[in-house]
Amino acid sequence: MRDYEDVEDERCKYLHGQPRQLTVDEKFRLILKLLRADFPAEYPVKVRRRNNEILKRGGHKDAPYGWCSLVHEDTPKSEQKRYFLIEINCSVPWHNQFTTILHEWSHALTWEEVVEGRDHSDIFHRKFGVLYREYVED
Ligand SMILES: [Zn+2]
Repeated sequence: MRDYEDVEDERCKYLHGQPRQLTVDEKFRLILKLLRADFPAEYPVKVRRRNNEILKRGGHKDAPYGWCSLVHEDTPKSEQKRYFLIEINCSVPWHNQFTTILHEWSHALTWEEVVEGRDHSDIFHRKFGVLYREYVED
């Protein structure tokens, strides 16, 4: 559900009566709030910011900017809980992190559309284009 008032509050934070730039943390929280409201995925999406080293240790040498996976978690009641886990490399400039969030979120939205092991299908690219146009271009 959209909550424009909330979003607007965060978008227009003022410090001592002067407009100021949002911090990276604030931008990160804001884009996630917008994505969750505007483009919900089939399962909840958890997004973590990791530095280079942690990302590599997690076995993601081939994904220097980030990655997305669908996690199947067994709960004590042995009900399966699923969620998307996106990890973003926070060692790179914000604009790279931002583009990576949109890229990985597009994977979450098109997860079922992967054809013959091809992660970046036409459907994926179209979805990424929609997100990019929504948050980057006017
Ligand atoms: Zn990708």
